[in-house]
Amino acid sequence: MKVNDKKVLGILGYPVGHTLSPLMHKVAAEYHSLDLIYLAFSVKPENLPAALAGIKALGINGVNLTIPHKEAAIPLVDELSEEAQLIGAINTIVLTNAKLIGHNTDGQGFITSLENDAGESPTGKSVLLIGAGGAARAIAIQLAIAGTKKIIIANRNLYRAQNLKSHIEEYFKKTSVYAIPLGRETLIPYIEDTEIIINATPTGMSSDDTLILPGERLNPRQLVCDIVYRPLNTPLLQAAKAQGCKTLDGLGMLIYQGALAFKLWTGLDMPVDLVRKRLLQKLGD
Ligand code: NAP
Repeated sequence: MKVNDKKVLGILGYPVGHTLSPLMHKVAAEYHSLDLIYLAFSVKPENLPAALAGIKALGINGVNLTIPHKEAAIPLVDELSEEAQLIGAINTIVLTNAKLIGHNTDGQGFITSLENDAGESPTGKSVLLIGAGGAARAIAIQLAIAGTKKIIIANRNLYRAQNLKSHIEEYFKKTSVYAIPLGRETLIPYIEDTEIIINATPTGMSSDDTLILPGERLNPRQLVCDIVYRPLNTPLLQAAKAQGCKTLDGLGMLIYQGALAFKLWTGLDMPVDLVRKRLLQKLGD
């Protein structure tokens, strides 16, 4: 095989040591017998322009971007997919004809997990979305694209939630959007009528974190999702299970956003069941 038949891919982040993406793409590449290498690069924010120029110069086939590069990369690529443009953030770059094309697969990754893993469609539903950062933004746009009836955005920084609300309202006339401050009391009136609840903040990653919502207000008709995947069974999901709710953890979103990126780079389907098995083994180690 010629050297230039090898696919060279990676992830840029800072810090990036915790990422499961190299394992995920290694498993998929081995399954398809692809000559592919996927590396994690620790790139400081001030070095992102040079890193992206280097990808072009070296002919690296593509990269994922993670915290804190997803928004900063927008002006540094040559073209954006429609979704990345709407979301205002990139998590995947594909080098095509010497151009860097930015995509965002986070939101679609969440929706695919919602449909495939939880068997739920967001169309026509009422959703309480906690968080207004990069991941919440991607999920909110994709929910609106999917025809979600109502999205209530609760965020610690209310201004950020209001900003996201205005952005969705500008492009999606059929979705009603509300922005509220995040707090136990403020959430109470909104929880009962909501069919899907999503935590898109890092709350729950640390054992010191307090529950992000009043757990006793949840009811068995609701689906409660957490995009945190370390730990898989977050305090929010534990509280939801105790109330009889259906739950969805963050591993599916991680796998499906990766599968969409893998497809963009290779044209091939990621073996998602095999990848899930290997990631669960790794998370259990
Ligand atoms: P981000 O852009 O930094 O946004 C963080 C969000 O969380 C903001 O809304 C922030 O609120 C809120 N937040 C942070 N600390 C909080 C706290 N102690 N209490 C309440 N709210 C808090 O980060 P992101 O990229 O959206 O990522 C958020 C989480 O999702 C991370 O844990 C990340 O690992 C996870 N994630 C998972 C996947 C997956 O595939 N499963 C994909 C992407 C991200 P303020 O605006 O008030 O600061």
